[in-house]
Amino acid sequence: MNIARFVFNPIQENTYVVWDTTGECAVIDAGNLSAREDNALVNFITEHKLRPVLALNTHGHFDHIAGVEFLRKTYDVPFAMSGKDAFLLDAAAASARMYGVEVRETPKKIDRDLDGLTEIGFGHTRFTIIATPGHTPGHVSLYEPESKTLFTGDTLFRESIGRTDLPGGDYSWIMRSIIEKILPLGDETKVYPGHGEDTTIGHESLYNPFIVEVLNNEVNYRG
Ligand SMILES: [Zn+2]
Repeated sequence: MNIARFVFNPIQENTYVVWDTTGECAVIDAGNLSAREDNALVNFITEHKLRPVLALNTHGHFDHIAGVEFLRKTYDVPFAMSGKDAFLLDAAAASARMYGVEVRETPKKIDRDLDGLTEIGFGHTRFTIIATPGHTPGHVSLYEPESKTLFTGDTLFRESIGRTDLPGGDYSWIMRSIIEKILPLGDETKVYPGHGEDTTIGHESLYNPFIVEVLNNEVNYRG
């Protein structure tokens, strides 16, 4: 699996284009919000002769869905996300305004509900869908076992974790997700987060202060 990262919109969100030898690609968390960012995405797809087949989302915050409707209209791809985050689609414009950001048209509905699905993919690539609630109720992480690659959205960042003070957020749940579902994937697993640089689970086990304080029993994350 090949991965390209774009940093889009004023929230500096990571949008990933992932593809394999079939030439099919998926766009994970399409956050493109301006004509310049749309063009960057389209040009990349065209130059690499890729065929988009899926708009795939870790969660429903506006900075992660800002480009989804553009993708749906440009490439006629289905939008896949957990139905548990559907409430965030309606709230996208209002929450964007709190950050001083005007969003464009956002998707009205989810074409493929990831809630209850175990796998989704493109070409001959398959992601295991891992429910990782806490940052949002419907947050998922996407794991590609062959390359041991994990897209963590806003659950796990390099040496940090996602906010849990937004509507539907919960500290105890995000830590359960990280400790009980993400860490067991193993130290060598590569992590591509929704903001900031990539990392590995091994690095986070040693240097992520939110994980270290739990592993050292300094914090009871189970609340
Ligand atoms: Zn978020």
